[in-house]
Amino acid sequence: MANTVECPVCGMQVDPDNAPASDTYDDQTYVFSSTTCRDAFTEDPGRYVGNTGS
Ligand SMILES: [Zn+2]
Repeated sequence: MANTVECPVCGMQVDPDNAPASDTYDDQTYVFSSTTCRDAFTEDPGRYVGNTGS
């Protein structure tokens, strides 16, 4: 399996090489399970990246 990352909005596992959407925030690249999640993230990034590292 390729490495996957968690969609910060809905928690789904996403393959970064095949992600339907991505965005950069605070020098970090995030990938999303859908453009809907990307749009939600863009609206309020701090809501989704406030508790990284757990
Ligand atoms: Zn998602």
